[in-house]
Amino acid sequence: MRRKIVDDSWCPVCGLEPETSFHILWACPSTKDAWGASCKKFQKSTLMGPNFFNIVEEVLLNGKEEDIKLFAGLSRQLWLRRNMLLHEGVFIHPNTLVQRADFGKAMGREYREGEPTGRMDVEKWKAPPAGRLKVNWDAALNLTRGRMGMGVVIRDHDGRVRAVKCSLKQGHFDPTAAETMAAIHALKFCMAQGMLNICMEGDAKNVVDALNSREENWSRTGYLVDEARNLLNGFNN
Ligand SMILES: [Zn+2]
Repeated sequence: MRRKIVDDSWCPVCGLEPETSFHILWACPSTKDAWGASCKKFQKSTLMGPNFFNIVEEVLLNGKEEDIKLFAGLSRQLWLRRNMLLHEGVFIHPNTLVQRADFGKAMGREYREGEPTGRMDVEKWKAPPAGRLKVNWDAALNLTRGRMGMGVVIRDHDGRVRAVKCSLKQGHFDPTAAETMAAIHALKFCMAQGMLNICMEGDAKNVVDALNSREENWSRTGYLVDEARNLLNGFNN
């Protein structure tokens, strides 16, 4: 397992903002799925900073008892996830965090403290066939600061995390270019690890379609699409 962190004072997950409690527990793009999956009341648009205490105050004042419990549980799980990524190179799936935060009751699953966490929950994520690795990639942009974060998580057919990489680029990119660059980044990472039987999975449909298409790509990001397709040709599967 290898991990590279560009700068310790920046968020170790996205690399887009300085690491404050507000960022790592609330504002980081990586927390969006977890908060979104937990409770409608915790949608980012309805609760605002500027620091984490403002959010806590809002939840304590207006939340019901179960909301407060879930909020506290998920905040703690996000902090544990950050530590797990830093120290063990393992990145836990948002659905798993929500299940654990919900005091082990959600979806009828029990969670015990200290349970091995290398396996991810396969609620939505679909495992690749045996002998292949699933590569999930994503990009996040901070337009104000002119930074782009790229993330890659590689898991085997059992859902075990085999490798994680987060990287950062300075500059202004549009979302399609950013997603395509993140795909290239993921492919190069797999090659460097000798992982040549893979299933790539990204969430930007236009980029996935462009990579799957055999037609010449004349768009502004066509040269990136070409580079990614050339890299794909170097894989066994
Ligand atoms: Zn972040």
